Amino acid sequence: MEEKAKNSVHVLVIPYPSQGHINPMLQFSKRLSSKGLKPTFATTKFISQTMGPELLLGSDIDFNTISDGCDQGGFLEANDINDYLVRLQAAGSRSLTELVVKYRNTPHPIDCILYDAFLPWALDVAKQFGLVGAAFFTQACAVNYIYYCAHHGVLSLPVSSSAAPIAIPGLPLLELRDMPSFIYVAGSYPSYFEMVLSQFSNVDQADFILVNTFYKLEQEVVDSMSKVMTPPLLTIGPTIPSVYLDQKLENDKDYDLNLFKLDSTSTHWLTSKTPGSVVYVSFGSMANLSIDQMEELARGLKKTGFDFLWVVRSSEIAKVPDGFAEEMGDRALIANWISQTEVLAHEAVGCFFTHGGWNSTIEALCLGVPMVVMPQWTDQTTDAKLVQDVWKVGVRVEVGEDGIVSRDEIEGCIRQVMEAERGKAMKENAPKWKELSVEAVCEGGSSDKNIDGFVSKILTQCK
Ligand code: UDP
Repeated sequence: MEEKAKNSVHVLVIPYPSQGHINPMLQFSKRLSSKGLKPTFATTKFISQTMGPELLLGSDIDFNTISDGCDQGGFLEANDINDYLVRLQAAGSRSLTELVVKYRNTPHPIDCILYDAFLPWALDVAKQFGLVGAAFFTQACAVNYIYYCAHHGVLSLPVSSSAAPIAIPGLPLLELRDMPSFIYVAGSYPSYFEMVLSQFSNVDQADFILVNTFYKLEQEVVDSMSKVMTPPLLTIGPTIPSVYLDQKLENDKDYDLNLFKLDSTSTHWLTSKTPGSVVYVSFGSMANLSIDQMEELARGLKKTGFDFLWVVRSSEIAKVPDGFAEEMGDRALIANWISQTEVLAHEAVGCFFTHGGWNSTIEALCLGVPMVVMPQWTDQTTDAKLVQDVWKVGVRVEVGEDGIVSRDEIEGCIRQVMEAERGKAMKENAPKWKELSVEAVCEGGSSDKNIDGFVSKILTQCK
């Protein structure tokens, strides 16, 4: 069959506008570019203005923008989450349509819209123009499948945490607290819950489903979910920089697009520490801990006696106890935002104290770093369960009756990973996932083959 020339196949990539969605989709765009396609990455106008034009320099990827209806202030311009999501859909569909029309009159019309599954309206735009539509799921396949089951009403949810655990094909038995928080804290964040369920509202019309995971990591649930989906489900991850995987993509050393101001002192500080001696602490781009929880975390970290690198975003810094940084001296480095993959890959890091966001989790798995997981909300609770009980590379903290994780619990969990027998087992286990992730992405690996299959089918469909 005649195929369109590779570099003339134009893929418009539309991430949900947050760091944890931009990173994997930008990384995947780099992969597509390395396979000869022409990606254009479209963030919101607000994010693009925040980032500045230097991002465009020296990249094979074109950048463009759509609107989220909050061009001046992004999410903070909206009244609340519901208002933001309503504006995002209305302005997003309209501006995406305009963008597709604009490219129609150029030598490079859009052939395919690769959209974040959180934005199902982007598929409607693709189909309106007869384009290929590919859904990109940025969360674990386990979490996607749970939402699929919830969307289709096939999940019989326990009413209380003491009820029998939940059986889902391809997953271990799940207690209520292992479910994504939108499910186990019934009624919390209804707009977000509706959004994650709506991923499945039209996905049967998509041409492909791509998931940022790798086959051997989630084999059973990938098989279960593949059986019920109409479009082919392809595992294409992990999407961490190529330098940590197959080293095939030149200059792919970092995520490139940071929504927060980078602190560059961490590598220098880490280099002064002995191998495996440092606890790296981060809760990603969105989590807001209470002042009491920050106090317990600070005191728990201090009690361990270990050195630690703690990412505290500027919006959270006032919650760190007064004088804490001075009290810790060289034992601690508190940074606004760092290159997380570079830190996780550093030999000084012995443990990752994380909120269990999917990117952080898969980065730690791929870089062989055992974890303490302190999930906050959304998919993090399910990720924590898998890290502890399926992949066996970490422990999950226990939350006290007051809703706070105590300093003693924090200290105890870090000690388990850093020095206990259980920690030894995790450290022995961690390299296995690292090797398997590299295998998946290297030539002939499961993700590499899936990406090749995706590229060749797009070429055929767009001929
Ligand atoms: N990250 C980073 N520097 C930091 C903290 C986080 O580059 O100081 C990156 C991290 O590597 C990951 C992303 O931000 O790729 C956070 O995504 P995740 O899914 O873990 O959590 P979210 O921010 O969505 O809650």
